[in-house]
Amino acid sequence: MGKILGIDLGTTNSLAAVWQEGKSVLIPNSFGEYLTPSVVSFGEGSMVYVGKTAKERLVSHPDQSVAVFKRFMGTDKKYKLNGKKYRPEELSAFVLRKLKEDAQLYLGEMIEEAVVSVPAYFNDKARKATKNAGELAGLKVERIINEPSAAALACRGGESKEDETFLVFDFGGGTLDVSLVDCFDNIVEIIAVSGDNHLGGSDFDEEIARQFCREHGLEFDGISSQRRRIILESANRAKCGLSEKKDIVMKVTDGDFKGQMDLDNKKLIKASASLFQRISVPVKKVLNDGKKNMLDISKAVLVGGSCKMPAVQQYLRHMMGGYHLTVMDPDYMVALGTGIYAGIKERREDIKDLLLTDICPFTLGTGIFNEGDAKRTLMSTIIERNSVLPCSRRAHFQTVFDYQKHVAVGIYQGEEYYADNNIHLGEVKVDVLPALKGKETITVDYTYDINGILIVDVEVDSTGEKKRQVITTGEDNIPPEEMGRRIAELEKMTFHPADQEENQMVTAWGERLYAQTTGVLRDEIGKRLDHIQHLLYAEQNPYKAKKWKRKMESFFKDVENYLNDVGIDWGQEDIDSWYVEESEDNEEQQEEDWLWYNGHLTH
Ligand code: ADP
Ligand code: MG
Repeated sequence: MGKILGIDLGTTNSLAAVWQEGKSVLIPNSFGEYLTPSVVSFGEGSMVYVGKTAKERLVSHPDQSVAVFKRFMGTDKKYKLNGKKYRPEELSAFVLRKLKEDAQLYLGEMIEEAVVSVPAYFNDKARKATKNAGELAGLKVERIINEPSAAALACRGGESKEDETFLVFDFGGGTLDVSLVDCFDNIVEIIAVSGDNHLGGSDFDEEIARQFCREHGLEFDGISSQRRRIILESANRAKCGLSEKKDIVMKVTDGDFKGQMDLDNKKLIKASASLFQRISVPVKKVLNDGKKNMLDISKAVLVGGSCKMPAVQQYLRHMMGGYHLTVMDPDYMVALGTGIYAGIKERREDIKDLLLTDICPFTLGTGIFNEGDAKRTLMSTIIERNSVLPCSRRAHFQTVFDYQKHVAVGIYQGEEYYADNNIHLGEVKVDVLPALKGKETITVDYTYDINGILIVDVEVDSTGEKKRQVITTGEDNIPPEEMGRRIAELEKMTFHPADQEENQMVTAWGERLYAQTTGVLRDEIGKRLDHIQHLLYAEQNPYKAKKWKRKMESFFKDVENYLNDVGIDWGQEDIDSWYVEESEDNEEQQEEDWLWYNGHLTH
């Protein structure tokens, strides 16, 4: 297998990395720099500039140059440049081609495959557009990986280290992405993601530029686009300067116009107060979604250029209440992670057992009868957003009318209360036996993988009739053999953790011990059994179940020893100390207890 290139295709800057000699290494571009600005500029004839030169031309040739097109990936937006129209994915393809060519020169070999990272909030269209961009650049995109997941991988350095839960805070040029990550054994699990698609470094540039205009009697929205660009450029330089110096003088020269403004962090914070307020919103959201609180978090990993701002770092420290901030290489983390993932994809010996789980960024469900308004079906969740992928969830439904003949299972994607406000992906219709309402039941299985293939299986419980629909939300035109292979791959995995023998074994073990014991010990065992039941049947999360199985086994072993060890006289004291150890040393248990008492896990 040839080399796979890991690519961080950023809004502002793009980078490439490969897995080499047991680690992920960044690849310098033709200027010997790791960061290639995601800017494209068209020159005379067929000349195309990408990167640093193109960025210079943004000011000198604004009509032929373009930046921040990543924001519009997957939309119909067109850019008219040099009399030709370009789609965002075509522009991205120029950037990818440049990264590919620079990497080929540097590595001295041809590269045909890549792993490309995208923001977690990217929808299917934007992901598909990213794949197409790769295709246009002569790269087969082996996998699309979420940027925060890549950063989390980089943070673990591609090794399994001790268990921990942390936040990845990716603050780039145009977006803020916050993810809650849980690492245990060799598994890097993304528990929840959230973000703000319209909050990034360029918003600070704009606030500084507006402040400059206010101080110079200029109307920011009224000045020529060229002057605005010059002021924004200068605001950006001043902002970046503040990560090295306490205060700075922002200077603007444009023809006859000359102006300057003093800037320090206090002034910057004042000018952009509304931006700071928005930073904490997604942090609260991921903690809520992940059912965690700040006490569970071991650190925050800061990623993205805007995390270099001292004001941002201070704000985060304040928000997290003194928790540990890890500022590794804000510019490089995502790219380094794609390099690690490329290594995993190459099935390299030194890394292959590292497992990265990813999550579904939206909810998948079906429409159900609405008693209040029969015309508008309600959305019933089957795969909840933030579910670990690949995943499979089972749900049961029943008929709502007497002697109903068919059941139509509508397939929807989205977060809206009414099914028809969500995206309609398809429908599976089955026949049921005529009977009184509620008597006929169907079982629905949704199986979804990271590449956007959704398999919907519907079974009529009384007749055993089965129907399947396969929906590719990610890409069209997958050749049939390839599709067959992917479906077979998905089917091979036993997703329902409750069906797995090892999980059945540990449950059976617990049930036996429950029967054998009494009192407090019995309560303790019962509580753990309830919890694993919840993970297996309600959450159906195989990774959490695996983690819990391990903890449960060690607990049951202790119980077993206690029950069998007739030779030792267990005094009251011993039992006490043993319990204390369980609940004080075991943070996880404490957290679960807390959740129980707060009612999160009741069912
Ligand atoms: P993206 O992932 O969107 O491509 P990056 O992570 O490269 O973005 O971050 C780009 C943003 O970071 C830009 O808005 C840039 O101004 C900002 N930035 C880069 N370096 C610094 C710095 N030293 N101080 C403050 N902001 C910075
Ligand atoms: Mg980025």
